[in-house]
Amino acid sequence: MGRPMSRALRKEYLAALGLETWTLRGDAAAAEPVEAPFSEPAQGVGASGAVEAAPAMTAAARGAGRRSDVSPREATTREATSREATPREAQLREAAPREATLREAAYDWPQLRERVAACTRCGLSATRTQTVFGVGNLRAEWLVVGEAPGAEEDRQGEPFVGRAGQLLNAMLRAIGLAREQVYIANVLKCRPPQNRDPVAAETVECLPFLDRQIALLKPKIMLVVGRIAAQNLLRTDAKLGALRQQVHTYGASGVPLIVTYHPAYLLRSPAEKRKAWEDLKFAREVFARG
Ligand code: URA
Repeated sequence: MGRPMSRALRKEYLAALGLETWTLRGDAAAAEPVEAPFSEPAQGVGASGAVEAAPAMTAAARGAGRRSDVSPREATTREATSREATPREAQLREAAPREATLREAAYDWPQLRERVAACTRCGLSATRTQTVFGVGNLRAEWLVVGEAPGAEEDRQGEPFVGRAGQLLNAMLRAIGLAREQVYIANVLKCRPPQNRDPVAAETVECLPFLDRQIALLKPKIMLVVGRIAAQNLLRTDAKLGALRQQVHTYGASGVPLIVTYHPAYLLRSPAEKRKAWEDLKFAREVFARG
């Protein structure tokens, strides 16, 4: 798990994505795409995770010939958001339970899955098709956390299976991770109607499930995608731009937590993929540092 991808395999993968790699003369090891090596999934691709991608590197970027090095900034969320809490932040900090509640604290994976499937703690249970527990390797070192299931996830019972999921797969693959290697979950286990933002009461009821998943999984790193998930997990109102490129930690577990853009946002704003790529490389560095 977490085995680094060989250079040859990486090159093959990038070529399959339609990307060339930019290499310093005499420095084959530095081969890195200067643009995000993941592209918008082709329309009509199934949920298999196969992604057809168009070349993402522009001629201008190739010409620039600069390797973008990440200079990681270490900061806790407390430092990053040292100003006075906004009323919503105060509410989040007060209301959200720090760890799994006593009810969940003793559950193993099958018990927890059953408990989630039967949950009626908030109104979303009335509108969901099914709960979306989470998916992946139970010994994963990487935990990816999104916001809440969308329509396709609600239908299939698995997180990130729609177009955003295909882009997430490509993002992970770009840092050498197969979807099957990581664990993927959401802050909410049920789809909010019309994909509206989760309300505080839903998050407060649902977070203990994710907390227990974290306690059982013991990930080495959390990659949190999107503003809503990041704000809820870090209990802050800070904008995503202020949260990325920093090493936060999650709750009492102290798991390093890195924030990046939600793939659904990247589908709408492909120009931001370059920043997401910086975040992914940053996460990979933080993980490697242990
Ligand atoms: N968006 C999310 O945040 N989670 C999913 O599972 C799907 C889309």
